[in-house]
Amino acid sequence: MNKSKITIEGAKDYLVKNGINPSYQRLKIFEHLAKSTSHPTVDIIYHELSKEIPTLSKTTIYNTLNLFQRKGIVIGLTIEDNKLRYDSNTELHAHFKCTKCGEVYDIPVEFPPEMNNKVNEHIVDERHFYMKGTCRNCTKNTG
Ligand SMILES: [Zn+2]
Ligand SMILES: [Zn+2]
Repeated sequence: MNKSKITIEGAKDYLVKNGINPSYQRLKIFEHLAKSTSHPTVDIIYHELSKEIPTLSKTTIYNTLNLFQRKGIVIGLTIEDNKLRYDSNTELHAHFKCTKCGEVYDIPVEFPPEMNNKVNEHIVDERHFYMKGTCRNCTKNTG
């Protein structure tokens, strides 16, 4: 989904279209994720949203993100061993993690079409493409 144009109404339609009952908390969680470009963790989402929704719990966020993943509107990134990040951009793209500042960037990639659904007769359900290094901001700041 296009991140810049997300509205609460748009989020609602999107959830309904994907078979998800659009409760207020689910909507807020999806909206937050859709607006974010930093691939937040449950902790970050909790930190941001609990100011606005004091009744929100980490368990609710975790369960909601699990539901979103099952419905295919959110992907989980295991670019780090110790934490799971979430992404509402379900289009095929790679991730670049800066080992200096910890930011995770979206990187456009194209896979050969013959690798889209099957490779060597294996059926592909998920694709993850991770890169690590020093991001352009950190390169500027040190150079
Ligand atoms: Zn960086
Ligand atoms: Zn991403």
